[in-house]
Amino acid sequence: MIINRRKLLSYRCPFCGSIQYKSFSIFEFHDDRILNKLCDCRKSAINAKKDKNGGFTFEVPCIACGDTHKIKITNRNLWLSSINYIFCDKTNTEIAYIGGYLEVRNKIDSYEKEIDDLITKLGYNDFFLNIRIMLEVLNKIHDLAEEGSLMCECGSTDVELTLLDDRVKIGCKECSAHTFAFARSNQDLVNLYDCRYIILCKKINIRETMEV
Ligand SMILES: [Zn+2]
Ligand SMILES: [Zn+2]
Ligand SMILES: [Zn+2]
Repeated sequence: MIINRRKLLSYRCPFCGSIQYKSFSIFEFHDDRILNKLCDCRKSAINAKKDKNGGFTFEVPCIACGDTHKIKITNRNLWLSSINYIFCDKTNTEIAYIGGYLEVRNKIDSYEKEIDDLITKLGYNDFFLNIRIMLEVLNKIHDLAEEGSLMCECGSTDVELTLLDDRVKIGCKECSAHTFAFARSNQDLVNLYDCRYIILCKKINIRETMEV
């Protein structure tokens, strides 16, 4: 059996929102060196080092909760598994993959294909400014609602979503409170991922209204 000592890692940068692919080999860990793979925007990085016990610790910046997660991968899993899934333990989201080139690429491709299929099914292709961002924004709003982190200051958690081309209006069904989640760019997505909860307020923020 030929062991491939060159692997691919992939993660989504919490700062610029892009999916990063970085390859590395076993030789980059020689002499206790720390593996450091910067995002193209240079604001986030995956670091990894070899442990005393022969395993590896990866530090993965997390787009889901904003923290950096320390993940231990055994020597065997790192070099022999076809793919290692890295999860955010706070949100239970897959945030990175480490493994063979083909497996990691396929994983991302199939995720993107799922989104493409959904877009076609919804027939919204021409409506949204950025359909991928819109779907991720909806996903995140849904997650917050499921966690009970989306509510109105009137006490109601019964909200309705109205999809506009570049934003989602989140409105309370009980009163007139509402807010907007923007879906224009990766930056909007990153801002939303920073939110631990959304509270709808009746008082309208003047500055926000002018921006709209
Ligand atoms: Zn970045
Ligand atoms: Zn996390
Ligand atoms: Zn309300």
